[in-house]
This record gives sequence, structure tokens and C-alpha cells, in this order.
Amino acid sequence: MDFTFTEEQEMFRKAAREFAEVQLFPRVAEMEATGKVCDAVVRALAEAEMMALTIPEEYGGLGLGYTARMIALEEIGRISVATAMMLQVFALGIESIVKFGNEKQKRKYLPGLAKGERLATTAVTEPAGGSDPASARTTYRKDGEHYIINGRKCFITNSHIADTITILAKDDTDPKAFSTFIIEKDMPGFKATHEENKVGMRGCNTGELSFEDLRVSSDQLLGEEGKGMRIAMSAIGDVGRGGMVGCALGVQTACLEASVKFANERILYGKPISQLPTIQSKLAEMKVDLEAGRLLAYRAASLQDKGQRSGNEFAVAKYFTTEAAQRAAKMAVDIHGGYGCMVEYPVTRYLRDSFVLGPSAGTSDIMKVVIARWVLS
Ligand SMILES: Cc1cc2nc3c(=O)[nH]c(=O)nc-3n(C[C@H](O)[C@H](O)[C@H](O)COP(=O)(O)OP(=O)(O)OC[C@H]3O[C@@H](n4cnc5c(N)ncnc54)[C@H](O)[C@@H]3O)c2cc1C
Repeated sequence: MDFTFTEEQEMFRKAAREFAEVQLFPRVAEMEATGKVCDAVVRALAEAEMMALTIPEEYGGLGLGYTARMIALEEIGRISVATAMMLQVFALGIESIVKFGNEKQKRKYLPGLAKGERLATTAVTEPAGGSDPASARTTYRKDGEHYIINGRKCFITNSHIADTITILAKDDTDPKAFSTFIIEKDMPGFKATHEENKVGMRGCNTGELSFEDLRVSSDQLLGEEGKGMRIAMSAIGDVGRGGMVGCALGVQTACLEASVKFANERILYGKPISQLPTIQSKLAEMKVDLEAGRLLAYRAASLQDKGQRSGNEFAVAKYFTTEAAQRAAKMAVDIHGGYGCMVEYPVTRYLRDSFVLGPSAGTSDIMKVVIARWVLS
């Protein structure tokens, strides 16, 4: 078993780190203050070809795969987890088109998405409960060669900036049959409505979508009619969970780095607090969590790159890393003493961001349900 990254992967990490430090870091304060997506950040991601990572080369992408994506999200999340989140859900939105789209759909959508000329998302969650997607109330009705869609989605990342949205809807004549459709933002009947004001990940956009007698042709149906739940869950199970793992590793790393810096600079009793056993104990716990999280993350990503099933491995990694990111953020705030309560210090942001990592792509409770099912099967 080889635990080392290839030379190309190390070079890619270096480039992703430099990109995050040079292009994203100067914009973090503005994103925090406004709670809005920064256009310059979207442009920079597109120019750096970050949107093209998992799109196959024949459709204008880089085809670098999921280990590279994990590296990119980890490095971007270390500086701005809001930006990592935007990028993660972008890839989630296109994954179903890459895996289940027909040739015409791939040729139509993927090249523009790879260039970042169009942005993507996926919309599954509804007010009736994200953990129970089968309770969804968004429906479609067949009308000749068309489908009429009605309903509402909530908590959707990139809701107000996405041009291409893959959505899950239920057959209004059969509550067990779901289908996935590709929606374009300028289709009559589609609207991005309420925009959320989140406590963390403030530089990425989350909001609601509504569909009112939205009429789409059968060209917009993704995969087979009635097989939509499998399509949506397949993308969320590996790309969605994996993306949140990359975001969580970024937060863990940022917490550890900020804590080491502060602990070396803060002098108490005539010496840096990094020499106190209680501080060292917290730093050690953060390091153990980060190393363990990275092993889980990259093992799952390597399975995914080999085309093997990785949903269960990503459930373990998502549960572990998102919980570990919250632990790391709490310890980082504690290490900072009173300064950990002051917004000038980034650890307050890491704490807020760490709590937003949990629900997306399935809560920790749901990850444990998935893991228990795996163990018991
Ligand atoms: C920042 C952010 C971005 C998001 N982006 C997207 C997106 O782009 N697209 C999208 O479709 N969705 C998105 N979501 C939605 C996310 O997937 C849901 O929030 C998540 O699935 C949980 O659904 P819910 O919020 O309705 O909570 P609920 O499902 O109502 O859960 C409430 C509580 O009940 C617990 N619970 C539920 N079922 C069980 C069970 N079987 N066993 C034990 N406990 C259980 C949960 O763990 C939770 O504690 C996003 C959410 C957030 C916060």
C-alpha cells in the first residue's frame, strides 16, 4: 500500500496552496462582512481551471480526478472554506451530468461549466426534511413530450449564482418514482427566491428555489425516468460527502496552524504557552485528528479514482472530519484565551464555519445510519 502522493499531486497541492493564499486570502474579510459571493473569486477559480478538475478532457475538463479535487478543496478550505464549499457543490451539480447524462447533454453543458462560464448546483433538499429525501413535495407531471414541475427547494448552495441546476422531483402519479432534471436559470417558472444569512461560510451563497409550472422538454431529463433517486444519491454519496471532507480538512488545518502560531507568540510566566502541557495536549489532539482524517479522506478518494464504490468510506470520513473540525475549532478558540472571542482573530470564523460543515451532504446522525447499515450488511 502506497501512502505517498505522486510528484504531480505534490505540484498540484503547491499550486492550489499558492492560488488560495494569493487569490483568496485578500478577499476573505470582504466575504465575511458582506456574506456574499465575491465575483473576483469566481473569476479566479475559473481562470485557475478549478471548475474543470473532475470534468473529462473530452468535454473540455482537466480529468484530474477525485484525489486532485480533495487536494484542491483542502488547500482552498484552509484559507476560505466558503469558497471550497461553493466549488464542492459546483462539482456535485455537474457529477450527475458526467455520470448519467447522454452525449447531447454532456456536449451541451460540460464545456461551458469546465470553463466556469456557467455555474452549477444540485437541488435535493426541501423544507419537508433533507434527511428524508423521499418526503419531497416537488413534483413533475408528464405532458406529451414535456414535463411540468412544481415545488420548492431549500438550503441550496449556489442557489442564486448557478446557471445549471440538477433537481430531484417526484412523479405526481407515483410517490415512489423520482426523476432528475437539468434546469437552466432563465427557464420561465424557475426562480431563486429567499437568500439565507448564514453564521458561517459567509462567502458562499445558500438559498431557496421555486418551480411554478416550469415546463421542460424530455431533453432535460437526466438518466432514466423514475431512476432519479439513485442518480441524486449516487452523486451525494461520494462527490457530496467527499467534498465536505475536503472542506473539513481545510478547517482542521487552519485551526492547527493558527493555534501553533498563537501558542508560540503568547508569552505567559515568561515563556510561550506552547510549552504548557495543556496547550501541547490540545495541539496533539488536533494533529492526531488531522492525520487520521487525511488518511480516511485520501483512501476514499483513491477508491473513487479507481471507479470503485466509495460512499461508505466517505460516510466514515465525513462523520470523522466534520466532527473533528468542530473539535479543532473549539480547541483553537480555547488556546487563544480571551483573544479567541475577538473577531480580529480568524479562529472565531473557523468556529462558525465548522458548524456549517455538518448538515450538508447528510448530518452526522445520517452518516452513522449509513455506517451502521454498512457494518450490519
Ligand atoms: C450550508 C448548507 C449547504 C447546503 N447545500 C445543499 C445543496 O447544495 N443542495 C441540497 O440539496 N441540499 C443542501 N443542503 C441541505 C442539507 O443536505 C440538509 O440540511 C441536510 O440533509 C439535513 O436536512 P435538514 O436540514 O432538513 O434536517 P432534518 O433532516 O430535518 O434533520 C433534523 C435533525 O434530525 C436528525 N435526523 C434526521 N433523520 C435521522 C435519522 N434517521 N436518525 C437519526 N437522526 C436523524 C438530523 O441529524 C438532525 O439532527 C445544505 C445545507 C446547508 C446547511
